[in-house]
Amino acid sequence: MKKLLLLATGGTIASKKMENGLSPQLSSEEILSYLPEGARFANIETRQILNIDSTNIQPEDWTFIAEVIQKSYEDYDGFIITHGTDTMAYTAAALSYLIQNPGKPIVLTGSQKPISDDITDARKNLADSLRFACEGQAAGVYIVFDGKAILGTRARKVRSKSYSAFESINYPAAAFIDGRRVIHYTAGASPKEEPAFSLHLNPRVFLLKLIPGMEPDILDYISDQYDAVIIESYGVGGIPFYGKRNFLERLKSLTQKGKIAVIATQVMLEGSDAEIYEVGNQALQQYNVLQAYDMTVEAAVVKLMWIMAETRDYETVREKFYTCIHNDILTE
Ligand code: ASP
Repeated sequence: MKKLLLLATGGTIASKKMENGLSPQLSSEEILSYLPEGARFANIETRQILNIDSTNIQPEDWTFIAEVIQKSYEDYDGFIITHGTDTMAYTAAALSYLIQNPGKPIVLTGSQKPISDDITDARKNLADSLRFACEGQAAGVYIVFDGKAILGTRARKVRSKSYSAFESINYPAAAFIDGRRVIHYTAGASPKEEPAFSLHLNPRVFLLKLIPGMEPDILDYISDQYDAVIIESYGVGGIPFYGKRNFLERLKSLTQKGKIAVIATQVMLEGSDAEIYEVGNQALQQYNVLQAYDMTVEAAVVKLMWIMAETRDYETVREKFYTCIHNDILTE
């Protein structure tokens, strides 16, 4: 029988109604006690490593979770992480970069309703996660939620209330899970190299969502305070340069200071192709500007934090940013 480690970090799944609203209260053991049939899947040990609403998650927590997995890696066949849904996609992306070549499943799950509620998605999500982790083919980081397994680099929370909270963005879901089986849609990874953990992130990455009327001098502030900015632009991607609000000029000084700029899109599906229009092409041609292509914004943000923990050299950042890791980027 497989041996799994359940790491509890908080979130709705662990929450109870308190005076000020829902907040995480249950321990890892208590969470598991709501799924007595869990023992049929595996020998499960649990550890409480955080107990927070995932709104409070920080990059330091991601390196901490990766470190916990590193220390226990040899002792278990897989890892289940219970986590709040609000930032789960960021954590899944972070673990996908911090843990290279995992030969074991690392599954994040949670729920829209507390596991202690009579009507809840938590028990199904937890059971599906155990089934998925025990099933053998599932090496790598995944979110398992509402009957789907989604690659850690491809997940996004798309519904704030429904059980079907997550979608796989610009990439097929990895598997379908029901009460009896796992049906894989994509081939699971089978890394030949040994797992490698890197436990450093540079949190000085800013995500700027453009709106019409925004003043470009925001880029001056960002370039003073941060090492990189991802600009969530419009459509396939562009930088406004028309009239008095000319972002291109500010982008020039930001990149000349050695900061990294990435054009991404506010549109959820299909990604950027910023060379298509003059508004995007000008920035790409004139300055050291990257684009996110089909990456999720969550993955792009964390990938930059991971790369920029090691280097700030534009050419090296560019090469690493466009290197496909756990299927995070398909086009360049
Ligand atoms: N606010 C909660 C959290 O992210 C929401 C959830 O878990 O569904 O921790």
